[in-house]
Amino acid sequence: MNPKTAVDPDQPSGPAGRGRLFVVSAPSGAGKSTLCQAARERLPDLVYSVSTTTRPPRPGEVEGRDYFFVSPEAFRQGIAAGQWAEWAQVHDNYYGTSADFIDSHLSAGRDVLLDIDVQGAAQILARYPDTETIFIMAPSLAALRERLVRRGQDDAAVIEKRLRNAAAEIARKAHYRHLVVNDDLPVAIERFVGILKGEVP
Ligand code: ADP
Ligand code: 5GP
Repeated sequence: MNPKTAVDPDQPSGPAGRGRLFVVSAPSGAGKSTLCQAARERLPDLVYSVSTTTRPPRPGEVEGRDYFFVSPEAFRQGIAAGQWAEWAQVHDNYYGTSADFIDSHLSAGRDVLLDIDVQGAAQILARYPDTETIFIMAPSLAALRERLVRRGQDDAAVIEKRLRNAAAEIARKAHYRHLVVNDDLPVAIERFVGILKGEVP
């Protein structure tokens, strides 16, 4: 494969040989991490943006692979310095995407995937209007709750908060170009990867 082309050399890249930018958002528990992991295995040249956050690492999370974990002070310094292409407060923590990271990979012709919330997605679309946006949903709120409980990573209060946030996030789904309903996992992976390969109009 052409090393300058991240996903598929037969597919068009972004304007003037730049890589394409993808944003994926979903309510917590819809299966975004599962789908992104599957896409990273299937599309090894796709660059996955590692965000910076002030939330503490979860068991098994690795600095620099899952997130860059920083203090609120360091994050706010980044805001003042214009370091973030977008940033937002989600579930009481700051999250942000490095502008340098995105710009350097897109300029080198590499496709970049951002896994960010609905507030960040709106900021990215304003800054990069050609962005392809993808929204992932569980088949129902009941399924979402069941997945969050079964995942076993959050206590009951956190799960209730995430479900309350989910309603507001789902209300934004019409702003996204592509919708992936993650019911049957292999079907959802196929559709998600197809979108990233530029095969879904
Ligand atoms: P998110 O990153 O959106 O918060 P995860 O990828 O962690 O969600 O998925 C939440 C839970 O649901 C995980 O335990 C995952 O294994 C499970 N899951 C993901 N996709 C499906 C699916 N299609 N059907 C059933 N369970 C799923
Ligand atoms: P989690 O804490 O479960 O990893 O992520 C919580 C939420 O924050 C998810 O909706 C995720 O997409 C979002 N998120 C992760 N990184 C960023 C980021 O850099 N910017 C924004 N705006 N949201 C992010």
